[in-house]
Amino acid sequence: MDPILDGLNHAQREAVTSSGSVLQVLAPPGSGKTKTLTARVAYLLSHHGYQPQDVICCTFTIKASREMRERLAKLIGEKLESRLILGTFHSICRRYLVKYGYLIGLRKGFGIADSDDTRAIIKRTIKRLNSSIEVKAAQGRISRHKAHGLSPDALAERAKAEELELVDIYRDYQSALAASNLLDYDDLLLRCSDLLRDHPQCVSNVQAVLVDEFQDTNIIQYELMNLFASKSRRITIVGDPDQSIYGFRSAEIKNLKRMQGRYSNTTVVLLEDNYRSAGSILSAAQDVIEQDEARPAKALQATHTFGTLPVLRKLPTPNAEAQWMVLEIKRAAAMTGGLLRMSDFAILLRSASLSTQIETAFGRAGIPYKMVGGRKFFDRTEVKILLNYMRVASHTGHSDALLNIVNVPPRRIGDETIRQLTSGAEQAKLPLWDFIKDVIQGRRSTEKKLQKAAEQGLCNLVKLIEASRQKLQECEDASAPRVLIEFIAERLSFQEYLIRTYPLDEDTRWANVKELMHQATEVAAFEEEEVDKEMDLPEIQGLEQQQAHAGEEALTRFLANVALATEITTEEDNKEETPKEKVTISTIHAAKGLEWPVVFVPAVYNGSIPHSRAEVIEEERRLLYVAMTRAQALLYLSLPIRQPRLGEGEDGATTITPFLPPKLTKTRFRPTGPSLHEKVVYSIADILRRPRPSVDDMYKGLEFLPSTLDDRWTSEGEEDRSKFEGTSVSHDTSDEPNPKRRRS
Ligand code: ATP
Ligand code: MG
Repeated sequence: MDPILDGLNHAQREAVTSSGSVLQVLAPPGSGKTKTLTARVAYLLSHHGYQPQDVICCTFTIKASREMRERLAKLIGEKLESRLILGTFHSICRRYLVKYGYLIGLRKGFGIADSDDTRAIIKRTIKRLNSSIEVKAAQGRISRHKAHGLSPDALAERAKAEELELVDIYRDYQSALAASNLLDYDDLLLRCSDLLRDHPQCVSNVQAVLVDEFQDTNIIQYELMNLFASKSRRITIVGDPDQSIYGFRSAEIKNLKRMQGRYSNTTVVLLEDNYRSAGSILSAAQDVIEQDEARPAKALQATHTFGTLPVLRKLPTPNAEAQWMVLEIKRAAAMTGGLLRMSDFAILLRSASLSTQIETAFGRAGIPYKMVGGRKFFDRTEVKILLNYMRVASHTGHSDALLNIVNVPPRRIGDETIRQLTSGAEQAKLPLWDFIKDVIQGRRSTEKKLQKAAEQGLCNLVKLIEASRQKLQECEDASAPRVLIEFIAERLSFQEYLIRTYPLDEDTRWANVKELMHQATEVAAFEEEEVDKEMDLPEIQGLEQQQAHAGEEALTRFLANVALATEITTEEDNKEETPKEKVTISTIHAAKGLEWPVVFVPAVYNGSIPHSRAEVIEEERRLLYVAMTRAQALLYLSLPIRQPRLGEGEDGATTITPFLPPKLTKTRFRPTGPSLHEKVVYSIADILRRPRPSVDDMYKGLEFLPSTLDDRWTSEGEEDRSKFEGTSVSHDTSDEPNPKRRRS
């Protein structure tokens, strides 16, 4: 048996080995789409003789591409895996632009404007144009236009009168980016599609293009896929319309139909067996999605027919809800006799802002956790300061980064000086850096003459940045990011600065700086070993290659990684030693494509899900569906009875989300007895394909656990150990033998 096909079912094999050149694999969650796509990559290499650097594979998140690489390394070996062009659309596009951007007039060494930069630029533009449009709204609307490939000129042609104001902002924003040689996220995709449209020879080597999570591609990504495949016309996509949750970012389910229209030879393969979740969880999730009446019915079979029913809990307050999760995690971990580790648990949230209370409760209870889907770590003041120095050192045109550090740490450059500098730069149509240099070298002047102290401060700043650039030049390998952070931190006496400025928590802050240094090394190592080789596009005959300085290149990649990171792990409140096993707290959006043995979905009330500001109700339902289908063995849904912030009614009373049909909300959860407890644990072990714990271990955990399953909320300490109550009812379809042994 071909090891690539090993462990695949019939339909999956059919998809993997299909000779069709355009293939759509459409299937529900947990049916092995990603597994199939991965196997197809391996199959194309080994059976069709494609070279890895001629295969482009797009995933939705960085985490997903790392996971896919790991799986592929096992299937085809690291040597081949490392040469694949595999990553998110953004990272692949960035790569093409770095290498061939000169063909479309892109200047070398462009920087990436992250969403903070974008906001800052738009804010200034709005102020200058005296517009009344709200910054965030403008940001969103511009991004949407870009996602549809509309330039300011194209928009102007079709814009209604009330939109002309936005056109001006958009135009101004674009020229600000251009002046600083910056690209925003949308530009990475747009400019790459310009490049490939005008110079298709850049992808003349490409033999096959594969896309995961296709239902959430937007129109530009769809076009990019076609451009990647313009020569080979060999495409495989996998997706699930029921999991389309990025409509708010202009993703279009219509792309599925578009693709079928464009390639008349499209073969569609359906997968119907779910391998991820307990049958009971799957059927609850089905009950949710089937309420969407516009949706075509679909076949879906559970391969794990037994399992525990999802738990639905109402708690008095969000705080009580967080504490309940703490207890349930401890309880489930102990009760299952070592079967579950901390990393088996995930808390999935509709909005990242729901995490605060949970983080506090976890911190207090000593439950290790990591936050995913936020940019928290790189947003911390001390981390941001150093990153901004690095961004300026890498790319002096980064005026916003520069603006953030002009007087940080303080060097006696006041707000008024800064104002004069920015407006001077604007008038001279120069990047801030160039203007500052001209001023201190006496070639230009500000409105009023600068004070001596301020001038001295600016000189020091310029000296430091120039020294950093010099240092960077000297460092000709992937260690550059780390070398540079250390250099800057030392020259700034950054630790002393932190001690002076934050006497209460300078040690935590310094630990964050250390963590940043560590990440710089790690990313550099990762890049050197994997990304550098694999994402190194092959040489194309007749195209000149741009040679980059290795240190500079390592730095721009590190910064691009930071800018593009959609998931960052932080070491919250675990100062001593940081355990590897951590509970994941994530937004539902960032949990796409992933799975965990135990999943909590808190705050399932109206206003949270569906979100009060949601535009498309069905998309909210699909979000809940995505969240529920991440769970393998245990699923907990919960809501606080009151949420004071909600402001709905006097006392902030909540109502349960309408997405849970009565069938689910009316179920009574009877306590389970000891025999059922064993059944529950054994069924979890089966679903997870893990060894069963010993009966002794299972009962050891039981002894010290408070019961939280009475209808009453039992607060911490108020433990009722008199009787055992299990997690929930077990489906009686389990064919597990009932162990004879009982606790004496
Ligand atoms: P999603 O829609 O959530 O992205 P998916 O369809 O991509 O889900 P996968 O993540 O590929 O599903 O697979 C879900 C789980 O099922 C994984 O743990 C995978 O290893 C397992 N799985 C898939 N196919 C099989 C199979 N034929 N036999 C056993 N396990 C399988
Ligand atoms: Mg998947």
